[in-house]
Amino acid sequence: MIKAEQKPFEEILEYLAPYNKILLSGCGACVTVCHAGGEKDGALLASALRMARQKIGKPLEIIESTPARQCEPEFAQELADTVGQVQAVLSVSCGVGVQTLARNFPATQIFPGVNTLFMGETVAHGVWEERCQACGDCILEKTAGICPIARCAKQLLNGPCGGSSNGKCEIKRETDCAWQLIFDRSKALGQLHRLTEIIPAKQWGVQSRDSGPRRIVREDLKV
Ligand code: SF4
Ligand code: SF4
Repeated sequence: MIKAEQKPFEEILEYLAPYNKILLSGCGACVTVCHAGGEKDGALLASALRMARQKIGKPLEIIESTPARQCEPEFAQELADTVGQVQAVLSVSCGVGVQTLARNFPATQIFPGVNTLFMGETVAHGVWEERCQACGDCILEKTAGICPIARCAKQLLNGPCGGSSNGKCEIKRETDCAWQLIFDRSKALGQLHRLTEIIPAKQWGVQSRDSGPRRIVREDLKV
């Protein structure tokens, strides 16, 4: 799932300064799971904002709403009446949700309340790690289910780089070397021979970010 964290409180306060009535829109999906912007965390942020503004004698009225998924236009549209009653929206969804609101409500200023970080996995309660960079040409079948693009600091397709030491990455010593993990798991699976196959350079211009914003069109689903 997409992982995000709340922006610094002072930064949010600063860009809401000109307004006295806003909508704080959460999202019931990814940001709820990582406690950045679901209903509960949105309510905590709203309370903190109200108190901070009360303290400086400039009260802020906040309407709270948390659509199931802010990145889907039909859920975003549920906010239409409320958006019409406020001066601005603080969206505590990922950047996709912010942009969905911006597209659906072109006359309204939409502010991001979180920093969207990565697609990751929950590795322990309250700990999330990056796992996929949506490269558009998955090679996990060749790398024992461990992604070198997301997890190797140099994004090597044929590692390791030579800087790995005691299983840790030379770029960040507290991080496991992705290629050590790939080697260990390949060995445990009896698949070490796979690592002798050279993974060719990706055609980054085809379905990667380097070719501009990507698009999926399913003709069978269009109405
Ligand atoms: S190889 Fe590409 S699609 Fe597969 S997990 Fe890594 S970044 Fe994601
Ligand atoms: S030490 Fe491992 S994870 Fe770090 S850059 Fe080299 S191959 Fe990649």
